[in-house]
Amino acid sequence: MIEKNSKANPIHPLMSIQPLGRGRVRTPASTPIAWRLNFYFLRQVAVIFLAFICVPKTGAVSGPLKLSVDAQQVARRILHVTMTIPTAPGPITLVYPKWIPGQHSPVGPINDVVGLKFTSGGAAVLWQRDDVDMYAFHLQVPLGASEVEAEFYLTGTSDESGYLLGNSSAQQQMMLDWDQVILYPLGVPTDAQTIQAQLTLPAAWKFGTALAVDSQEGQVITFKPVSVTMLVDSPLLAGARLREIDITPPGETRIHKLDLAAESAAALDIPEDVIAHYRRLVAETGALFKARHYEHYNFLVWLHGTYQDGLEHHQSSDNRLPEMGLADAQWRRIQGDLLGHEMVHSWNGKYRRPAGLATPNYQEPIKGDLLWVYEGLTNYLGQVLAARSGLWTPDDYRDRLALIAAELDNRPGRSWRPLQDTAVSAPILYGSSPEWEAWRRSADFYEEGSLLWLEVDTIIRTQSKGTKTLDDFCRVFEGGESTPPVMIPYTFDDIVTALNSVVPYDWRGLFHARLTSLSPHAALDGIYTAGWRLTYTDTPSELNNAMEAKLDSLDMRFSIGMLLDISGKIVDVLPGTPSDIAGLAPGMSLIAVNRRHFSPQVLRDALKRGKDTPADLDLIITNQDDFLTVRVEYHAGERYPRLERDGSKPDMLSSILAPLSAVR
Ligand SMILES: [Zn+2]
Repeated sequence: MIEKNSKANPIHPLMSIQPLGRGRVRTPASTPIAWRLNFYFLRQVAVIFLAFICVPKTGAVSGPLKLSVDAQQVARRILHVTMTIPTAPGPITLVYPKWIPGQHSPVGPINDVVGLKFTSGGAAVLWQRDDVDMYAFHLQVPLGASEVEAEFYLTGTSDESGYLLGNSSAQQQMMLDWDQVILYPLGVPTDAQTIQAQLTLPAAWKFGTALAVDSQEGQVITFKPVSVTMLVDSPLLAGARLREIDITPPGETRIHKLDLAAESAAALDIPEDVIAHYRRLVAETGALFKARHYEHYNFLVWLHGTYQDGLEHHQSSDNRLPEMGLADAQWRRIQGDLLGHEMVHSWNGKYRRPAGLATPNYQEPIKGDLLWVYEGLTNYLGQVLAARSGLWTPDDYRDRLALIAAELDNRPGRSWRPLQDTAVSAPILYGSSPEWEAWRRSADFYEEGSLLWLEVDTIIRTQSKGTKTLDDFCRVFEGGESTPPVMIPYTFDDIVTALNSVVPYDWRGLFHARLTSLSPHAALDGIYTAGWRLTYTDTPSELNNAMEAKLDSLDMRFSIGMLLDISGKIVDVLPGTPSDIAGLAPGMSLIAVNRRHFSPQVLRDALKRGKDTPADLDLIITNQDDFLTVRVEYHAGERYPRLERDGSKPDMLSSILAPLSAVR
């Protein structure tokens, strides 16, 4: 990628306080003292002189880095890394990526780096971690040296969360995120630093990646040199069982592939109609943006474990789904928008990026103030594209929208934390506990983005009397001419200007109102204008059923005010609801309901019967080691969100979900 207008790279303050001698190899104690002192003095003078004339200043670029990753022990959650780092004699600070693109957080797994060693010309070079920045290593390159060799191991634990190696490796497959296996000189813009990577895979494994291969000998693959930015932006999926499916739609010149890795053949047995929907997804993105900013695209799909998430890249995406995540219809109902969401990021996030996220390297903190565009608009478009491409039916889309609307409309945290603050505090909200989430709020800029950008879409359609849509904004702001990967930062004003070029409106006022609101209720104007309204029924939607079956999630937030898992453990309690008033809290467990052993059905039956009886819900609860009896005063039965049609208005939502492309 080429970073346009990226911030000037400041001199890192740590460099100015770094003593020259730190980390040097000590003079052997057997050397005579006078000679030793003399040598030390002369050496220091020489080092200072050479450092003055030779050492790259912070931000200077060294020659190409060489990286070699041996993944033959990846099933044990171990990667062996060696690097050759060209440099001049003197002090150098090498850093391990900290702020990971797309994760919007300082989550580089520095604690999983073990066995770190540096050598030069075969001799050890001592390192010292920075006193403040745990991701920085200071070393002193000896006189006469032109490069340093680094060696370390990346280890993973059995914790199945996030993008750590433990959650990216299995007996027969791996997802390699290159940011976890590199060091690079401090202060260097990663666009300007070249790196050549080599990877050794376990025997007979195949791989998929957007990276260009230079050569391959057996299991050793050498990739063409790229910038550090491009390497980190190009993860690699490998496995003993890897299926590659070309999903390039007719008439499209850029190659699009689904690369799937799983531990079982059944997981890779994707129904033909589902593959056709993904081909349509590619066609629909073309019809939406009318330009592409990549040369080819790989959907890398990891089908293993329990994690469900995705990480966007310019020419590929790292998609994590359970083993049957693509083959099973209930999983598709829950996660059918994942691949579309990650692909939209190629335009909205990678090509156009908020200025606060357009940092020159991975050490500089990000600012998340515009994540309601980066993630919020992507969330909306990913869901709309799931419907346009047939991955979701219109009912699936509406059930999702109803759940989002209900969740945000019953979010007590809204009255203290505005939407804008969920974006600004994204680095601390990612990974926060689901317990007390409704009160704390979470990364709500995703789901609230679906409401906000639907509202924007309906305003454009209304104001233009049906001649313009949000798709036009996407073309103006993120389409343009097709290009190879390139990044153009934007500001809040740029969004307002682009929207006004589509349809003049008080966009600034709208966004300000939505971003700063402390109303306890969500703005559902987009849904109403689109001809639908939020309502509640006593029958769970297909989405509710899928979430209970696949995620073990029992959603009683809109009735008694709590979210449970199917074992009865309380995950969240909404302040102000009957569960809150009764004194329940996340972490407690429901043991019995009206003197009957808890099960989801027993609770549902009790809620149903409660409508016709004055008796309160009688619960037995455990709170750590204690048993409690709790009475919950509630008589309104089961309540699950749905959208119902408002016949007084045109059905704009169906127009929004209609396919743009002729590809079927
Ligand atoms: Zn995203």
